Amino acid sequence: MVNTDILVVGAGISGITAARILAEKGKKVLLIEKKSVIGGACRDEFSEEGINIHLYGPHIFRTSNKFVFDFVSRFAKFSNYQHRVTSYVLGNYCEFPINLNTLNKLFNKHTVGNVLDKLRNFSTEGENFEEILKNKIGDDLYSLFYKNYSIKQWLTEPFNLIPQTAAIIPIRESIDGRYFSDTYQGIPEKGYFYMLNQMLAHNNIKVLLNTDYKEIRNHVSYNWLVFTGRLDDFFDKSEGELEYHSVRFELEKTYGTTLPSAVVNYPNDYDYIRRTDYNYFMESDFKVHIIGTEYSLKEGEPLYAVPDFKNQIIKERYDKLVSELPENIKLIGRLATYKNLSMGQCVYEAIKICEGVQ
Ligand SMILES: Cc1cc2nc3c(=O)[nH]c(=O)nc-3n(C[C@H](O)[C@H](O)[C@H](O)COP(=O)(O)OP(=O)(O)OC[C@H]3O[C@@H](n4cnc5c(N)ncnc54)[C@H](O)[C@@H]3O)c2cc1C
Repeated sequence: MVNTDILVVGAGISGITAARILAEKGKKVLLIEKKSVIGGACRDEFSEEGINIHLYGPHIFRTSNKFVFDFVSRFAKFSNYQHRVTSYVLGNYCEFPINLNTLNKLFNKHTVGNVLDKLRNFSTEGENFEEILKNKIGDDLYSLFYKNYSIKQWLTEPFNLIPQTAAIIPIRESIDGRYFSDTYQGIPEKGYFYMLNQMLAHNNIKVLLNTDYKEIRNHVSYNWLVFTGRLDDFFDKSEGELEYHSVRFELEKTYGTTLPSAVVNYPNDYDYIRRTDYNYFMESDFKVHIIGTEYSLKEGEPLYAVPDFKNQIIKERYDKLVSELPENIKLIGRLATYKNLSMGQCVYEAIKICEGVQ
């Protein structure tokens, strides 16, 4: 039997943050990862030209929490990159999320005033994603920007999605064309993989790759367990299988032609959901552009919790089991909470749970 103060399962940003904080508290941490490499969903690498490719899709670090940003900034210098997305709608590349520039591009001046008046008077009530969004932005904008994009992303009809997913969607009565409005935004200049390795560089942290929790759980004793794998895996799927969606990327190199913004959403055209030009994330001017084209998959490496009613019911059964776990077992991160948390939220949650570890 191996003994450790802390067993952390999963070497994504959640598990690595927890490992670092607890190591700095003087705890001996054993961090296990079933893959042969650390980084989880925010893993990246550099192309031969030096372009930083986020292997699981564009990853922009964002938070309005100074403590979170100060923490990650200890391990990486962040660029000041401000993310911009356009949506290809009716043959136009429109700023997204919807703002005044978006409306001006699609409607004439007179109509924009009417659209805005309607937006101010719409309600935010509804029983599902589709109802809420139709009530919030009206049928036309919903159909142009969200309906088909949601179908492509979640591979289900939008009325099957829970309302919370729509509640956070912003419509801006300004010309702020940035995708995120968080106080701190950026990308580690040397990449996420570098940053996470810096976080792991502590004498109290031992990392074991190619090690699945299922196979070692009866051979390790610990005072605290921090688990960041799948929620249903932790309970051996006793309450049923949760669906996690995945993505597929096709990378191509182009010379000269590029996208009008770092990411372009294609709600209504083509069978892919979006394309990313990774060059936008770097300050250098490369001749070659690397473009990633993204498709949603039902199966594959688990990346997204599916925010539909069917999975929500199963998740609630697991949440009850989580609430009954002893104090020294913590489930955090995107897979284990079955919530599509951002990296900033993952870091915040890891910091919070570590405060309680004695
Ligand atoms: C396409 C896409 C785009 C995104 N864009 C952004 C963005 O722009 N900004 C942002 O902030 N966030 C973004 N995110 C979210 C971000 O990727 C996550 O918040 C973050 O990476 C989750 O980290 P995690 O450690 O919780 O989970 P993961 O990164 O999934 O790490 C969990 C780790 O646990 C390991 N594991 C699982 N089960 C076991 C087991 N039984 N034993 C051992 N190891 C196990 C896995 O192999 C994995 O390495 C995006 C996500 C996706 C999918």
